[in-house]
Parts: sequence; C-alpha cells; structure tokens
Amino acid sequence: MFNLILFGPPGSGKGTQSEKLMARYHLRHLSTGDLLRSEISRQTALGVEAKKFMDKGQLVPDEVVIGMISTVLDEHKNATGFLFDGFPRTSAQAEALDKLLEFKQAPISVMLALEVSEDELVKRLLKRGQTSGRSDDTNEQVIRARIEEYRLKTEAVADYYRQFNKVVMVKGEGSIEEIFRNLCQVIDQKKKIVQELPEPL
Ligand code: ADP
Repeated sequence: MFNLILFGPPGSGKGTQSEKLMARYHLRHLSTGDLLRSEISRQTALGVEAKKFMDKGQLVPDEVVIGMISTVLDEHKNATGFLFDGFPRTSAQAEALDKLLEFKQAPISVMLALEVSEDELVKRLLKRGQTSGRSDDTNEQVIRARIEEYRLKTEAVADYYRQFNKVVMVKGEGSIEEIFRNLCQVIDQKKKIVQELPEPL
C-alpha cells in the first residue's frame, strides 16, 4: 500500500493535483472537504453540525472528521493506497490517522507540501468562488479566516511528519503541469525506495 498526504493551505492546488495523481497512481482520493460537503448536501446530522464551522472558515471538530475517515477506510479495505487531501489538519488528526493505519500496517509513505504565497492563495480562492458554488470561497473574510486556521492549527501537522522524515516541500506556483511533474518525481522516487525495502517479518 502506498499512502500519501497532499498538504498545503486552502487554495494551494490540492484538489487539482489530487485528480491528476489519482489517475496516474490509482490511489483512492480521500478529501475531507468533499466528504463534508456531501454530508451537507444530503442534510445529514453530521453535515448540519459541520456547516456551522465551515461557514465561518473554522475547522470542524476533530472527532467528527476522524470518525468520518475511519468509516471510509473501513469501506475500502482493498484499496492499493490512499491520497489524503485536506486531512490531517490538526496534530490530533495526524495521531489518529497513524493509529488507524497501524492496524492496516500501511503507514504514510510521504507528505507532499505545496508552498504558495498568501496573496496568490486569496486571489485563487476568490477566482474559484466565481464558479465553484462554494460559499466559503466568495467572502474574503472567510477566506482569510481559513488561512489563519491553517497557520494556527494545520501548519504544525507538517512538523509532526517531519520528525519521521516524511515531508517534501514542492513549489505550488507555476503551471499545473509543471507542479504535477515535480510531485510525480518525488512519488516515483519514494515508491522505488518502498519497493526496495524488504517485507517486514
Ligand atoms: P480548502 O482546503 O480549500 O479550505 P476543503 O474543501 O479542504 O477546502 O475544506 C473546506 C472546509 O471544510 C474547511 O474550511 C473546514 O471547515 C472543513 N474541513 C475540511 N477538512 C477538515 C479537517 N480535516 N478537519 C477539520 N475541518 C475540515
């Protein structure tokens, strides 16, 4: 199993690159943002609760998101690997994910962290808001709040994986293809290393 985390602030291109990575490496895409929006559109109890936080640009409580991920992992026991997008977003989520993957003996292989300047992020998100139908992309105040949440709570998740030497920074500005090529280069290298390692006894 090859599990990777695509990491970066809101608007850094995780969704766009996930689509392309999924197609190339046959990974199952797991986006907590998409899962939450699906709960909202189906008006489930979880969705109603999550919406209150999302509308303000705040993170949804850890236990809600961790429960959701745990369910999806159980539903896809035979996946060849997962691409986590927008998760984990707090250190508590990172620790919970490690525990869930421990049961599967399939740890995170690498965290790819996209780097994009704040001005560029706001520009991209406002532009996306014109067409995405996402209310959290149309209001600059909500966008700034999401970036602030990222700086306060999410950035530390990279430090969590850094202690295991699993973080690779990738420039998130430039053409979509160029960024994709850089991501693939890191993954191909990591996959080679993973394959060369002997099976654990
Ligand atoms: P973006 O990365 O563009 O902000 P997402 O689609 O990943 O968009 O997330 C949208 C919103 O959903 C976030 O602002 C947050 O409120 C909520 N959310 C998504 N993933 C998580 C998570 N892992 N933990 C807590 N809240 C989350």
